[in-house]
Amino acid sequence: MLYNSTENKNEVVSASQAIAQGISKDGGLFVPQELPEYSLETIKSLLPLGYKGIAKKVFSDFLADFSAEEIEDCVEKAYTSEKFGSDNPAPIAYKKYNGNDVNILELWHGPTCAFKDMALQILPHLLTKSLKKTNDGKDAVILVATSGDTGKAALEGFKDVEHTKIIVFYPVDGVSPMQKHQMNTQEGENVKVCAIEGNFDDAQTGVKKIFTTPEIAEKLGENNMMFSSANSINWGRLLPQIVYYIASYCELVNDGKIELGDKINVVVPTGNFGNILASYYAYCMGLPVNKFICASNSNNVLTDFINTGVYDKNRRFYTTISPSMDILVSSNLERLLYKLSGDNDEMTREWMTALKTEGKYEVTPEVKEKVKSAFYGGFCDDDKTKETIKKMFSEQGYLCDTHTAVALAVYDKYVSETGDKTPVVIASTASPYKFSKSVLDAVNDGRRLPDNEFDMVDLLNDITSADIPKPLSSLKDKKPRFSDVVKVEEMPDYVLRTLGVK
Ligand SMILES: *Cc1c(COP(=O)(O)O)cnc(C)c1O
Repeated sequence: MLYNSTENKNEVVSASQAIAQGISKDGGLFVPQELPEYSLETIKSLLPLGYKGIAKKVFSDFLADFSAEEIEDCVEKAYTSEKFGSDNPAPIAYKKYNGNDVNILELWHGPTCAFKDMALQILPHLLTKSLKKTNDGKDAVILVATSGDTGKAALEGFKDVEHTKIIVFYPVDGVSPMQKHQMNTQEGENVKVCAIEGNFDDAQTGVKKIFTTPEIAEKLGENNMMFSSANSINWGRLLPQIVYYIASYCELVNDGKIELGDKINVVVPTGNFGNILASYYAYCMGLPVNKFICASNSNNVLTDFINTGVYDKNRRFYTTISPSMDILVSSNLERLLYKLSGDNDEMTREWMTALKTEGKYEVTPEVKEKVKSAFYGGFCDDDKTKETIKKMFSEQGYLCDTHTAVALAVYDKYVSETGDKTPVVIASTASPYKFSKSVLDAVNDGRRLPDNEFDMVDLLNDITSADIPKPLSSLKDKKPRFSDVVKVEEMPDYVLRTLGVK
């Protein structure tokens, strides 16, 4: 199987090139030229395989230039029970909400307690193998600018992975105390964390500049190193997400919740459109899905797009209590548009150019129809989010985080509007303890909150008795290893010094 760019079909690469390169030269995103087809017979054969077995099958169908041993190695290293708490990294909690069954796919049992671990635990292994095939084994240097969560997830993923080094920059006053502590206590011989004097944009601009300075790249090359990226448009981050939708379907069949062949609905709290797109790819491969419910917070650009066919990012930006969805440009939507337009690279390029120049585009009536028939878009504000956390907790004793609550609220609206009671999988993207303050606000009945985030975790635990994930509880006693702070203009020197390059 080969891959091509969404903005130029003539740019064709292998799977390992797509992963090593990250983004195509023309700025488009890499997509598979065709998708493997999974019949019900195929799905039936997956039922007894467990998560890792299903992952190996899916990976082998997409990564044509990887050997079975290589895939085995990646999967076995990524989804260990030490890292995910059990053999099943993505268990389903069977609950009810407002009288309806909700099957909550918990994607946050990994080392940083959010769903990005599902991809970032395996990406480093896919990437090092891809680089070996395409760049004669140079060591990969990963630079990340982060506003908090991605940095930590990338650090955990790349920690002590051979032939990689990772340096994470964060804005010194731009992350929460908990996020700062999570990053500064990071373990691993190949990791480095540094604050910069500036905001997230400054950090990102600084990283981009280092990436694109030829002299720096040259110096790295002389030392058998090269820059690479772990960002969310890399195919190596999308592919692992297809696995858990297929695995969750198998789990529902195995648990007697549905029959093989029954359709399900899928609900995803959406930001960059990667997670929900993965479920759509699973459907295109043959997974029986009826409707994709795309849940947004007050940054409801996707809700409007699904309803009108017009994508318009020229609007107010809201800072919400579901911050991982505070996004106005959902990069992975480009891949959906390419697919729904019948693999039309010219049209996709026009839309993306309009987005860059005017912040806005409108798809054709045919594409709009296709979007509307497969997707339902809805959103919910912060008050409704908290109300949902409280209702779920008081009815079921089940504590969910703010992003998952957005999904539940939008699903509830969908059912009351449509009466559609197709069995549902709701993607739960973070542990409630990752957003302790907002979750406490929802359930604490007006008590005064402590100032310190660790005390909030304890208070939330007192009130709800929900288990605190080990990676968060063990953090409290860890000593910081990193305390560097540099100016933005010092970032290039800092990188070279860290790498021991002159
Ligand atoms: C990243 C993230 C999302 C959004 O996922 P996308 O794939 O960008 O749509 C939702 N919830 C949480 C907790 C996240 O970290």
